[in-house]
Amino acid sequence: MTIVNHTLGFPRIGINRELKIAQENYWSGKISQQNLLETGYKLRSENWKKQQELGINFIPVGDFSWYDHVLTTSMMLGNVPLRHQNHDGSINLDTLFYTARGVTPNKPSVLASSMMKWFNTNYHYIVPEFIKNQNFKLSWSQLFDEIDEALKQGYKIKPIILGPLTYLWLGKIKGAKFNKLELLENLLNVYQEILIKIKLRNIEWVQIDEPILSLELPQQWIKSFKITYLLLTGHVKLLLTTYFGSIYHNFDTVIQLPIQGLHIDLVDGKYNLNQINKMVPNDWILSLGVINGRNIWKSDLLYWFHIIQSIIKYRTNLWIGSSCSLLHSPIDLDIENAIDTKIKQWFSFAYQKCIELNLLTIALNNNDTDKIKSWSNKLYTHKYSEQVNNYHIQERINNIITSDFKRQSPYSIRSIKQKKKFNFPILPTTTIGSFPQTNDIRKLRLQYKNNNINFQDYQKKINQHIQYNIQQQELLGIDVLVHGEPERNDMVEYFGEHLNGFIFTSFGWVQSYGSRCVKPPIIIGDIYRSKPITLNWTKYAQSITKKPVKAMLTGPITILSWSFIREDISKKNIAYQIALSLQDEVLDLEASGISIIQIDEPALREGLPLRQSKWKKYLSWATKSFRLSSSQVQDTTQIHTHMCYSEFNDIMNAIVELDADVITIETARSDMELLEFFKTFQYPNEIGPGVYDIHSPNIPKIHNIEKLLIKAMRYIPVQRLWVNPDCGLKTRTWKETKYALKNMMIATQNIRSHI
Ligand code: GLN
Ligand code: ZN
Repeated sequence: MTIVNHTLGFPRIGINRELKIAQENYWSGKISQQNLLETGYKLRSENWKKQQELGINFIPVGDFSWYDHVLTTSMMLGNVPLRHQNHDGSINLDTLFYTARGVTPNKPSVLASSMMKWFNTNYHYIVPEFIKNQNFKLSWSQLFDEIDEALKQGYKIKPIILGPLTYLWLGKIKGAKFNKLELLENLLNVYQEILIKIKLRNIEWVQIDEPILSLELPQQWIKSFKITYLLLTGHVKLLLTTYFGSIYHNFDTVIQLPIQGLHIDLVDGKYNLNQINKMVPNDWILSLGVINGRNIWKSDLLYWFHIIQSIIKYRTNLWIGSSCSLLHSPIDLDIENAIDTKIKQWFSFAYQKCIELNLLTIALNNNDTDKIKSWSNKLYTHKYSEQVNNYHIQERINNIITSDFKRQSPYSIRSIKQKKKFNFPILPTTTIGSFPQTNDIRKLRLQYKNNNINFQDYQKKINQHIQYNIQQQELLGIDVLVHGEPERNDMVEYFGEHLNGFIFTSFGWVQSYGSRCVKPPIIIGDIYRSKPITLNWTKYAQSITKKPVKAMLTGPITILSWSFIREDISKKNIAYQIALSLQDEVLDLEASGISIIQIDEPALREGLPLRQSKWKKYLSWATKSFRLSSSQVQDTTQIHTHMCYSEFNDIMNAIVELDADVITIETARSDMELLEFFKTFQYPNEIGPGVYDIHSPNIPKIHNIEKLLIKAMRYIPVQRLWVNPDCGLKTRTWKETKYALKNMMIATQNIRSHI
């Protein structure tokens, strides 16, 4: 038997974010559609060529997409919301962008389709919309065009399609309620048509992605797999791909499907491979996802060699591949010249992951481990590196005791002391942290980063911005002020840059959604704070006002979730390390007279494991991490936290567990309705429900804010309510900010005078 390899998809954005740039230029009218299409063509050709050169046997096609691959699937299936279609019902590339963004030339702005996180990654997809009795119709030829394109260029390819059940699962119902599975039959007609068209091109294998198999699905959905695949089989060979976790709990169903191959993710999923080998029919291809598609560490090829070797003799057909699509990985490590070579050798980006697949394939086929040994050896130097291991940190983690997670007194006592100390008016007002990030501020930070100005000058200028922010807040009459975060590029990157244990790439971009890319920091070693991070900026802000200044920190779970993390220690351990570093910062802030500290945790909910059975454990260490960073202060020091979403119903226990004195949340768009949960749950502490949506440039009306506040008071006693926008203001202009906050203040005063 010869082992072959494949990737489950490749990053589409381009090494220099060519796709982002071209799309944005197209949207703003700077380039023509023809130019945009050419960029897409070049990127695909480059990706195919590169993967072939690096030794990939089956080249993926269909992983390229404008904006998002779920949206491409919606286009292909003719599932475009009515409000985004052209008058005659037709669709084109502009329709695709219109659906994603809600704006397009010569048409009114409409509501874009919403966006959701793609399973537990930081990628976001455009949510398909379904209406009762809707029809699907093959409507978009992109996949077939790209297949033809790749065939013309001579590649041996494996087209990728998103499986019908995962597609249905990911969408949401609009209008009258119904069971989404009612749409399956009609949907499968189109899928059959797609598979027939692929077959006509003499394709042998199609990769059909059903990652929902790693979830805990309702019985009805599990049952639907059988009929679905009965209807899809018989045209081309189907490789059913699963990833982001084990599907062992659904294995009984999966092995009965009329498919020809199965891909499982051995990186995120725990499997007993010998057992799997016995269960998977021998005439199937078994594809093992062993190269991690969503982290940046070099793979331990020797380890995988031995694991795979143990089943080789039992199987007729074995493939190896990336665990999931490489979409979630940066593209090329070689161009990262700024990373110390000793550290660089621990990493693999998408190109290097292809090399790993090739090396492992050759090693297995020739039963020769020489080359992979030297590869894996590079990773072993991580384990013993001084940059990684810090005995003091590990000691500190080991010595954590229960009281480290606990405030001195319960909230009921703290709140009395705090009310006495701060003497705020009823409905105290505050903001979430950032003030407008003007071009001046960005330029200034860049100058400093490029060593074009020294620290003294930089500090002076940043302080001027802080001074302006404070002045404006005083003029508005806000009760709790913030310094405005002018020194921060990004809430995670900023802390990563000031903590030990992190490193940064220059080009390690990963697509987050549409044209937006992020460059996550990499956690390489034990994390600690060697000197204060936010102290001087906050102290300066406090020194120029009599009102309390609220310090602004990013919480441990958010820093963890938005970074590439180590795999040699647990997530909990990493979170605790960050939490202890933040605890040091919190205590320094308190000691220098700052008595209100906000620790943002917008990613707390995002970190939830895919399977509900694992939620409890995660939420336990996640909330403990927050408390580890926030609990050691005096009763009179007020801890705030902030989260920018509105789904709390299933994590209310954890929210209570955080025991923050004040939580500020996003509510403006949900019309305060989510406060219902806080009421039902008898949430005991203070809440600042956002009273206007900062994502929109519109100025909120006084009257609307009043209405929201009155509504909020129905759920939460006024003594425990705060007034604030629903997130930071960094993306808004000063003009918008001043008017919006002014209206927020007037509305608050109006309500106050009626109480
Ligand atoms: N303090 C941050 C800000 O105001 C919070 C950002 C966020 O919640 N995503 O910008
Ligand atoms: Zn927010």
